[in-house]
Amino acid sequence: MGGTFDPIHHGHLVAASEVAQHFELDGVVFVPTGEPYQKRAVSWSEHRYLMTVVATASNPRFTVSRADIERSGPTYTIDTLRDMRAQHPDADLFFITGADAFASIVEWKDADELWQLAHFVAVTRPGHQLSLSEYPRERVSLLEIPALAISSTDCRARVRAGYPVWYLVPDGVVQYISKHDLYRRLSA
Ligand code: ATP
Ligand code: MG
Repeated sequence: MGGTFDPIHHGHLVAASEVAQHFELDGVVFVPTGEPYQKRAVSWSEHRYLMTVVATASNPRFTVSRADIERSGPTYTIDTLRDMRAQHPDADLFFITGADAFASIVEWKDADELWQLAHFVAVTRPGHQLSLSEYPRERVSLLEIPALAISSTDCRARVRAGYPVWYLVPDGVVQYISKHDLYRRLSA
């Protein structure tokens, strides 16, 4: 599951857990992006990586990969999947996205090769509709998950405005944000 994770929140974790359960996955690897393509300036990648580690540490099936943050330049999903394939040559790979992120899939570099590298699972997300009719049916699934209207953008705005993010993000992430004084400045 790729994402900016700035910060990781319970919407991400529920998505990963539901997809793992439904598709009987051995595990979910969270892959924080490097400098993302077409996105605002994001927090330092080590902060995003560590928050993702903190949030997933208690789940034995969840791990975090540094592959994207260690590759220079913007992250393309094709590169993430090629790296995952190289590390796990015999695995059946699934790529987890929310309904909104999947919608930009056609803009991804080398979209055709994507279908060969992984099965894509788009999970439902409040406020986002998705039709899969134009995508290869055997390589893409839509999974309905419990709706959590949480976004990292909203979490950042709440911190900036002095509102709590308790229960939107894991407790350790609340504490990490506070310890490092993240999201207080306008650019964040
Ligand atoms: P931002 O507001 O900064 O874009 P975000 O909340 O969308 O943050 P991302 O890191 O962009 O989080 O998302 C990573 C992946 O998780 C994407 O595929 C996104 O669609 C999915 N996702 C994020 N939040 C939810 C949610 N509440 N429900 C379902 N999927 C989600
Ligand atoms: Mg997003």
